[in-house]
Amino acid sequence: MKVKDIMHQENFCISPWINMVLPHHGNIRCCNDFEESLGNINFNSLDNIYNNQNYKKVRSTILDNKIHKGCEGCRFKESKGGVSKRTIMNEYIKKWNLYNMEVNTNSVLENLMFIDIRLSNLCNLKCRHCNPNLSSSWTNDMLKLESTDIFKNYMHKTIEFKKRGIIEIDTNKIIEICSSLKNLKVLEFKGGEPLLKQKEIKTILENVNIKNIRIGIITNGTVKINNDLKKLFNLANAVFMHFSIEAGENIFQYIRGTSLSTLAPVIIDTHDNLNKVDFTFRVTQMPYNIFEYPNVYNFIKSLNLKKYDISELLLENWVVKPSFLNTYILPLEVRIQAAEELTKFLDKTPGVHKSVYKFRDSLKLPQNNQSKDFKNFKDFTSALDKVRNTSFKDIEPRIGKYL
Ligand code: SF4
Ligand code: SF4
Repeated sequence: MKVKDIMHQENFCISPWINMVLPHHGNIRCCNDFEESLGNINFNSLDNIYNNQNYKKVRSTILDNKIHKGCEGCRFKESKGGVSKRTIMNEYIKKWNLYNMEVNTNSVLENLMFIDIRLSNLCNLKCRHCNPNLSSSWTNDMLKLESTDIFKNYMHKTIEFKKRGIIEIDTNKIIEICSSLKNLKVLEFKGGEPLLKQKEIKTILENVNIKNIRIGIITNGTVKINNDLKKLFNLANAVFMHFSIEAGENIFQYIRGTSLSTLAPVIIDTHDNLNKVDFTFRVTQMPYNIFEYPNVYNFIKSLNLKKYDISELLLENWVVKPSFLNTYILPLEVRIQAAEELTKFLDKTPGVHKSVYKFRDSLKLPQNNQSKDFKNFKDFTSALDKVRNTSFKDIEPRIGKYL
């Protein structure tokens, strides 16, 4: 069957054919939002995993126009009007003219074009919506949280916490895989913080044909790119820098434990010194930053980046797991207040991206299971505040009065 024969089915997703995530622990997934391991690259070859029973089951579920259980987070985002990985990946059908590509339960490695790499969970931050699987800096706090009720009753089910500290994948394995893919078009490096692994990124890029590849870096914006890597990036087909910024200074410090002032020089250096760079800024929504979009907008605008159009600042990505860190668990009164404040901002700011209007409207809708998740949110926030000696109640009284 060809893509053009099936792409109009409502549950179609191209990811399990063209995309693969190679993470630090080796558990392969067919996209970043997929919630199950499809096989471990430390014990199996790429060829075996790509056509094993797990992978074939994902593809056959899609071909049957059904939703695989590993795809629920992706579909949750869509149900709230957000953009899912599925939406993003399906856009590549047109971009790369994949209409005639064969899509069957078995596939060929020539179809793999988009590889996400997590070299390590090494990270210099411990953002509240993260965990030790993705950030080594989180490990000590999680050891302290381990005895709390919120961890015992809830978090252990959603967070695979193995107390192992830093976990890394063998760079040679990545090189072997990437250099065997004849049609590789995108390599995206995620973390941990990928720019703490610049030596490894350089080694990988020196061993693949970067003239034909778009390189993506998803960064927390605290680490400058060194000159060696800048030179290599300037040889690539294109470079895509993606900075995560969720809030203005106070809430940003609360969520990420660092100041926006550490990000500004890094963003400007990247902007000024990379030739073919595309910028995006990700505003990941969670309960802590429901009032913060205008502050992010104003911060980015103040940087005066000529290569970035502020009307492209989207608001369509939100935390799905753990579910108590999803924005919609907040009481309806708080969400309505946030929607009203966003309306005031939108009324006086022309040209804001349409996703912000959609987000604003979605805030006013009643939600299922809101009170159970809100209790977990309160327990998690107060347990982590105790461990970190912080107080969300004081920093954000508009939400704090409900805690
Ligand atoms: S539907 Fe979403 S989670 Fe499932 S494979 Fe596609 S992109 Fe991944
Ligand atoms: S910067 Fe990224 S990897 Fe590091 S703690 Fe924050 S969300 Fe996690």
